[in-house]
Amino acid sequence: MKNQKICTYCKEEKKFTKEHLWPNSLHKRLYAANEQNENYFWLSRLQRTIPNEPTIKDVCAHCNNITLSILDSYICNLFDRDFINIIKFNEKISFEYDYHLLKRWLLKMSYNSARIHSAHDEKALEEMLPYILGKNDKLGRSVQLFALLTYPEEVKKKEIDKTVTSDETIILEPTIHRVGHIFFRVPNLGQKILRIVHLRSFSFLLAFWPPAGGKAEQNDFESIITSKMNGLKLLRANEKIITLECVGMGAYRSLKDSRSQFEITPQG
Ligand SMILES: [Zn+2]
Repeated sequence: MKNQKICTYCKEEKKFTKEHLWPNSLHKRLYAANEQNENYFWLSRLQRTIPNEPTIKDVCAHCNNITLSILDSYICNLFDRDFINIIKFNEKISFEYDYHLLKRWLLKMSYNSARIHSAHDEKALEEMLPYILGKNDKLGRSVQLFALLTYPEEVKKKEIDKTVTSDETIILEPTIHRVGHIFFRVPNLGQKILRIVHLRSFSFLLAFWPPAGGKAEQNDFESIITSKMNGLKLLRANEKIITLECVGMGAYRSLKDSRSQFEITPQG
């Protein structure tokens, strides 16, 4: 049996903390933002089938409260500036980012989620630990980071609630936050499984490659996936700002997709 006292991140024997997947500071913001949403009642109906997120109990206080909380604070700042906003269809925004802080946080969330669900990519994420902990930026090159915006979508109430018989519609805003997978079929490459982190209007995709692999494979993949997924953009380590166009996906489709991913993920 695994030694229960060894921290998953620093591999040292220390006292553990107990945390939910979504850091408290961010969860509070998400909750407050959702309460402002007039259609949240409808949205929560859709989300009701999702089981409660279990807690993470294998991270030491130092990693959790110091090393990883730097990433959480960065994301909270981004939340207050960007993620709080619901982006409209066709709207263009300039998204300013610190590449490594953002990607390290997304990998941390993915790794925590992978352990909760014993996901197939737990090992691949574990290999990214030196990068997540900020000790090896070069290692991060084996993971590509893409961004996509989701727009509000009109949906019939009866699609969400079977007790509704009228054709009344509501505007569903992208208010979900979830960590999951998407499956992307590439000609000659087969199926590639990507991590996806939804944060309201923003979705971030992570594509994993062998650390020793060449750049050509990544470049090919970028051109294929960005040509197939409208509005998807690759974020780059040597840039700090990108223009994103909100043409990616409607909120209802995104929500339905992420629900099915959620069900697929734990079996992976
Ligand atoms: Zn630790």
